[in-house]
Amino acid sequence: MACLLGHKWDGCKCSKCGKTRDKLHDWDLCKGKCKRCGKIQPEQHDWQGCKCSKCGKENHHWVEGKCSLCNKEKEKSCSVCGITNTDFDNHYKAQAARGVVIISRDKLVKCDHCNYVICTVCLNKAGGDGWGYPNCPSCKSEPSYNAV
Ligand SMILES: [Zn+2]
Ligand SMILES: [Zn+2]
Ligand SMILES: [Zn+2]
Ligand SMILES: [Zn+2]
Ligand SMILES: [Zn+2]
Ligand SMILES: [Zn+2]
Repeated sequence: MACLLGHKWDGCKCSKCGKTRDKLHDWDLCKGKCKRCGKIQPEQHDWQGCKCSKCGKENHHWVEGKCSLCNKEKEKSCSVCGITNTDFDNHYKAQAARGVVIISRDKLVKCDHCNYVICTVCLNKAGGDGWGYPNCPSCKSEPSYNAV
């Protein structure tokens, strides 16, 4: 064994045999992970308001669609699957990059009567096999939807 007479510790890891110890980790605090041995701990961000000054991660405090700290408005998302218009855009961009020709673009819509937000994929599923959109899944009114 190479390290019979003692390991050559480089922080938490022996640079000769690769053995690790639970000491002197080289933490990437934002990822909560030791860069040397991969040990996990809870993420520790450096929050400046709603944003980590180190990695840029955002952590808003949503209260009824608005952040109570910075007043940012939360992006609307589908009440069923949670997708946002940004998610759709990224999805189409990725498809276009693979050469897929996109004919109909699904997006978020809002019921005119009760402001229920749903994506057209989920709306089509709710409608079964019939033509056109079904009645609003929330308030059951005749279909009248607007783009969000
Ligand atoms: Zn060793
Ligand atoms: Zn480590
Ligand atoms: Zn961070
Ligand atoms: Zn915020
Ligand atoms: Zn959906
Ligand atoms: Zn409705």
